[in-house]
Formats: sequence, C-alpha cells, structure tokens
Amino acid sequence: MISPFRTSRLNTSVRRVLLVILVSALPSYAGPIQQPVSHKVQAGDTLWKISQRYNVSVKAILDANELSNADKIRINQVLVIPGKPVQEPQEQEQKQPEYSKDKGVFHTLKKGETIWNLSKIYQVPISTIIQANNIDFPERMKPGQTVFIPMTEERLSQHDELAGMKSYVESLVKLSPRQKMRDWKYIIIHHSATDMGNAASFEYYHRFKRHMTNGLAYHFVITNGKKGSDGGVEVGNRWKKQLQGGHVKSDFYNEVGIGICLVGNFQNYPPSISQYNSLVSLVQVLKDLCNIPTRNVFGHGELRTEQSLCPGKCLPLKKLRSQLTGP
Ligand SMILES: [Zn+2]
Repeated sequence: MISPFRTSRLNTSVRRVLLVILVSALPSYAGPIQQPVSHKVQAGDTLWKISQRYNVSVKAILDANELSNADKIRINQVLVIPGKPVQEPQEQEQKQPEYSKDKGVFHTLKKGETIWNLSKIYQVPISTIIQANNIDFPERMKPGQTVFIPMTEERLSQHDELAGMKSYVESLVKLSPRQKMRDWKYIIIHHSATDMGNAASFEYYHRFKRHMTNGLAYHFVITNGKKGSDGGVEVGNRWKKQLQGGHVKSDFYNEVGIGICLVGNFQNYPPSISQYNSLVSLVQVLKDLCNIPTRNVFGHGELRTEQSLCPGKCLPLKKLRSQLTGP
C-alpha cells in the first residue's frame, strides 16, 4: 500500500510546478486586487514597496512565494501577489485598530534586533512600524537607530502598565550593596504543577520534606492569586544570597541557572494574564541585569539534561522569547 505521507511529499513539488505555470499565466496589474497576479521585480523594488503598490501585506507576499523574511528578492524575479477574499476589505476596515502619529513609544534598536522583533515585542504590525518611520529598507536598520512604535490607546495603556511593572520588578531584584552577583548564564522557567502555593509553602516543602539545606529551590516565585496576589513576584533567599538553585537535576544548570517558578499546572491551563506579564517583566529585568541572551531562556523540560513536562504545554515559551528585547 502507498503511504499517504509519501504522496503528500510528491505533491509539494507538483505544487511548485503548478505555481510557476500559474504565475506565467497571470496578468501584471497594480492597485487593490481580488485575484492573485504576478509581479516582475524591478530595480529599486523592495517587498515593502511591492506590498504598498498592491495593498497586501509583506507577510502575505512572503507566504504566497514560500519565502522567509531573510530571503532577498532579485531583479526580474517573478512574485505571486496573493489576492484577497472579496469580503475582506470591509471586514478589515472594521477590525483595523486606530494608530495615530502622536501616540506610541520610541525604541532604540539593540544589537541583533530587527523590525520583525519590534512588531512581536510591541504586538504592532510590521507594516505599521515601517509606514510610521518611512523606512525604505527594513533589513538595513542598524543598532542605535530609534524607531517610533505607533500604538492604539489600549496597547499604550498596557505598555505603560508593563513599564510600571518592570520598574517594580527592578526594585525587587536589586541586591543589597554588599551582595556580589553570581555569574548567571541561564534563566529556567518552571510551573509548580499545583493549583496553589507561594514562596512560603514551597520553602516549607523543600526544606522539611525534600531536606534541602537552603530551602526554597527557586530564586523567584510568581503567584496566581490563590495564595499571594495574582501575578505577584516573590524573591527567594537563594536570590538574595546569590546561592545556586535546586530546581533542576543537573548540577551545572543549578550552578548557573536562575530558577523562576509560576504557581499553577500549565499542563492543564495557561498562566493568568498577570502572571504571564510578571514573567515577561522578570525575565527581561534578569536578562538585562545578568547579560543573559534570549537563547539561554529555557523552560525546564527544554534542557537536554532534564526529562520533564515542566512548565507545561500551556505556557507559551516561544511567544515569551519573542517578546524579549536585547541579544
Ligand atoms: Zn520544573
């Protein structure tokens, strides 16, 4: 019997051939479109300019041509410009959030950051950022350049809230002047796998049931409102005294990994919005303080040395990493 998977792999190459035939048969046309058309890349064309000309998003063009954001386009390359469903313009008009030139924040690009990162961090479409800053070549943006991020009223107030949260977390994380910072290399995220708890209850459990001399195995606990406040950040003794953690099996990761535990069982449900926002702020503050790159922010079960479902499938680790700034 022929495996259905094999057939679908064959279909991919057939699809590519059909795409080429389709493109060569399409008319070239500018302006808002309903049907897909082809566009031959001219000198000076950028994906952004093409997207504006046909009134489609850069992402739609990338998707239609199976290109990634990093792919360069060439002169005379033929691109498929996807059409829109007939009803979409009307729907889009209603859903399009209102951006204005004077509402937003300024962001200075750090090393390794791109417009795509900014769109993720601030949850604003790439096209909105590009348009607000008249950027011709998004791929040529350099560290140190300042970009205006337009925001809706709602996003701006969320942003202010997060900025407030961040300065609060900064004050929590600050060490006493006599305390020397350990050379932290990783941030490791856990869930408690319990529906309730806080630093004090885990401290009791780790010290007296698990016989850990230093008590609470994590450096930070983020509570969920069932014991302690919703999204509250509790600082453990191991952070205050800069002691190694006891939150993973591997001695290596315990030595150089900051352990954060969110209360909840995220195999069954996601963290609360306040918990998630506190996590983003805490990880960002720790990352900046200890110069930890985003690629060293892990969920417990993502470590090679561990076999664990922690912190649960409902905690969006990829989204978290995409919202972090800096290297
Ligand atoms: Zn864990």
